[in-house]
Amino acid sequence: MRRIEAGSYYSYLPKGCKLCRRGAKLTLFVTGICKNSCFYCPVSRQKIGKDVFFANEREVKSINDFLAEIESMSAEGVAITGGEPFLKLERVKEFARISKELGLHVHVYTSIPVKGELLEKVDVDEIRFHPPELKNVERYFDSIKEAKELGIDAGFEIPAISFEAKIVEIANELDAFLNVNQLEASESNWFALEERGFKIEDYYVENFEVVKLYEKAKKFHYCTARFKDSVQFRRRLIRMAMNHPEFYLVTRDGTLLFTRIEGNLDVAEKILKKAKIEYMRFEDCIETSLEVANCNLKDVLKSQNLKVAIAERYPTVNRTLIELTWV
Ligand code: SF4
Repeated sequence: MRRIEAGSYYSYLPKGCKLCRRGAKLTLFVTGICKNSCFYCPVSRQKIGKDVFFANEREVKSINDFLAEIESMSAEGVAITGGEPFLKLERVKEFARISKELGLHVHVYTSIPVKGELLEKVDVDEIRFHPPELKNVERYFDSIKEAKELGIDAGFEIPAISFEAKIVEIANELDAFLNVNQLEASESNWFALEERGFKIEDYYVENFEVVKLYEKAKKFHYCTARFKDSVQFRRRLIRMAMNHPEFYLVTRDGTLLFTRIEGNLDVAEKILKKAKIEYMRFEDCIETSLEVANCNLKDVLKSQNLKVAIAERYPTVNRTLIELTWV
């Protein structure tokens, strides 16, 4: 087994996971609708059961939203997820096709044992099957076999809730991969996990005995919750942050430091233009170099009734503020 960041390790890493590790994978949440009701379902209450469509944090109303998100993070791969993606087959087909035309790697998650004919209709490189609550795993045998015959890398992706020997047997017999995810606790599954006796620590459940048993799979990968936050998410943020204009200061966490100006933005724009300072204008504020808040220009701006702050935010589409200090 090869150990990687944040407690994760593997003997086989599917390409989708390699891209994810580099923060280069865009998550395309094609719908929140799903016919299952797994007790550990991690999908948020705002999304589950609703036909919502997101590319990372960006709502997708048109193909352009998807393309903008690809560009914002210089994505190299797309993970199609949900809900149950195959309940929105046309969306999966269309967005997988666009992704492939752009040269991106595509992997899809599903709990439906989709077979050859349907698989042929969606152009994906990799498929990951999740048997709801790890029941009826035999149903996925033919799906994995047929996917592999079509040249699609295939396997199981399951949460570490319990050991099901059949999953390992099928994976090994078909030379398929097995991704085991550390169980994450969130507002949507917290009580269900507690009710079943799972011990939650820091928003995740350690279940080492179960994980160890799954190591019998020849193509095995264990992904921790910490890995998702401290590696995958942080690296995606850094990629997004680096695609911003140079005046933003990029932190090690992939957040942006800058000066934020609020008030009459036309007035602020005139002052910055005159001083030949680069900036970005949004509906609610102007963002410019951190230096502006630390030099005399700040006083000029404030003398015009403009509010000036040192700010830190995420580089994501919603520009979520982390900290704001008025100067
Ligand atoms: S199949 Fe996936 S999305 Fe559907 S309920 Fe189970 S965990 Fe949630």
